[in-house]
Amino acid sequence: MSVVSAATRLRLRITTAAETAVRSGHPWVFSDSVQQSNRAGQSGELAVIYDRKDKFLAVGLFDPDSPIRVRILHAGKPQTIDAAWWQSRLEQALARRAGLFDAQTTGYRLIHGESDGWPGHVLDRYDATLVLKLYTAAWLPRLDEILTLIKAKIPCERIVLRLSRNIQHVALGASNRVRHLNTLEQFPPLPEGDGRGEGKRDGQTLFGTTPTRSVIFSESGIRFEADVLRGQKTGFFLDQRENRREVETLARGRRVLNAFSFSGGFSVYAARGGAVSVTDLDISPHALESATRNFALNKNFPAVAACRHETVQADAFEWIEKSPAKFDLIVLDPPSLAKRATEREGAIRAYEKLNALGIRRLAPGGILVAGSCSAHVPAAEFFDAVRRAALKSGRKFSELKTMQHPPDHPAGFKEAEYLKVVYLKFTS
Ligand code: SAH
Repeated sequence: MSVVSAATRLRLRITTAAETAVRSGHPWVFSDSVQQSNRAGQSGELAVIYDRKDKFLAVGLFDPDSPIRVRILHAGKPQTIDAAWWQSRLEQALARRAGLFDAQTTGYRLIHGESDGWPGHVLDRYDATLVLKLYTAAWLPRLDEILTLIKAKIPCERIVLRLSRNIQHVALGASNRVRHLNTLEQFPPLPEGDGRGEGKRDGQTLFGTTPTRSVIFSESGIRFEADVLRGQKTGFFLDQRENRREVETLARGRRVLNAFSFSGGFSVYAARGGAVSVTDLDISPHALESATRNFALNKNFPAVAACRHETVQADAFEWIEKSPAKFDLIVLDPPSLAKRATEREGAIRAYEKLNALGIRRLAPGGILVAGSCSAHVPAAEFFDAVRRAALKSGRKFSELKTMQHPPDHPAGFKEAEYLKVVYLKFTS
C-alpha cells in the first residue's frame, strides 16, 4: 500500500438518517449507513464525513472490523485532529472528574468512552495502576501516542491493557498501519506494518511492572482488590460506587443478601454500615474467594469484623427460588440479561421474575435493591418490571429512590445508558 496523503484522505458519505444522527451528536456510524467512500479505509485512520452539500460534517476513527464503521471524534465545524487536540480532549475528561474524589477513593473511571469523547476507549484508575480498555481495534495503531499522552498527564506506576473479547484476535494480528494521532498531512506516516500484527494481548502490561497479584485500591476508605489482568470489566464494578454508598446507609442491623455479588463490593459496605450478616451469592468460586479477601482487607473496621460473612456458590436464580432463608436487605445486581436488542422483552420478563423471587425472601420491613446493567433495557421499563413484581407480591411497599449513572461514568447518548437501580422498602 502506498503512503496515505491528504489528497487521498478517507472521505465518506452517509445516509440522510445517519447524517441527522451525527449532526445531533450521536457518536456511531454503522457500516450500512455508509453510502460512498473514495477508497477502502484502514483500521484507525481518520475518516472525514461530508454531508449532502459536500460540507464537512464530522471526523472519526475508521474501523473496518466492526459494524460500527466510524466512531465520531468531532462533529460540526472543520477541525484538525492533531496532538494538541488529543491533549485537550484528555484534559477535558480529567477536568470533568476534578474534585469528585478525595484520598479515600483511589479507584474510579478517568475516561468513559464515547460519553467522554473517546469512543470505545476506557481508562480506569486503581490507585497507582491505570487500566486502559479498548472496545475497538481502531485505537491499536495509536496506542503508543495515547500512552505518551496519558503518562504525561496522569501520574501512575503502571498501565495495563485490556481488550474486549471481540477485538482480541484483531489485536494479535492487526497490521500496524496508522501510527500517528496527528493529521496525516502534518506528519509523514511511517511505513506500513510488517503484517505480523500488533501482537497486543488482553492483560498485557504496557508500562511499568506486571502486577504479580491483584491491585489494592480504596473506595470511600474501604480497601478492595481488583484483578486488573483478568477480571471482568477492568477488574471491578466501579460504576456501582454510589449504590454501594447508599447500601451502607441502609444496612444497620440487617441480614443482607448480595446476589450476583462478584467480589463483594456491596457486602463490605453493608458490613461497615452495621449489617448483622452478609451472604455473598455468586456462581463463580473466584468471585467469592475475592469477596472473602475483601472482607479480610477491611477487618480494621469494627463493624466489618463483627459482621457474619458467608459465601454461597450457586446459580442465584435457583438458590433464591429454593432457599427458605429470609433477609432484611437484598441486592440483586445480575449481569446483563439482554446482550442484544432482540432479547429486550425476554430480559424484562426475567427481571420481573428474579425480583419477584427476591421479594419472597425479604422479611417484613425489608429493602430490595434491584439493579440492571442491560443497555438494551431502558430504565423506565426496568423500573416498571420491578414495581410490577412488587405489586404482584400483594405486599405493601414504598419506593425509596432510583439511581442511574455516577458522574465518572457519564451517559452522553441513549445507547450509553445502561445502569439503573431501584430501591423498594416492603412495610409488610
Ligand atoms: N454486583 C457486582 C457486580 C455483578 S457482576 C458488583 O457491584 O461488584 C455479575 C456477577 O454475577 C458476576 O460475578 C458473575 O459471576 C455472577 N453471575 C453470573 N451469572 C450468575 C448466576 N446465574 N448465578 C449467580 N451468579 C451469577
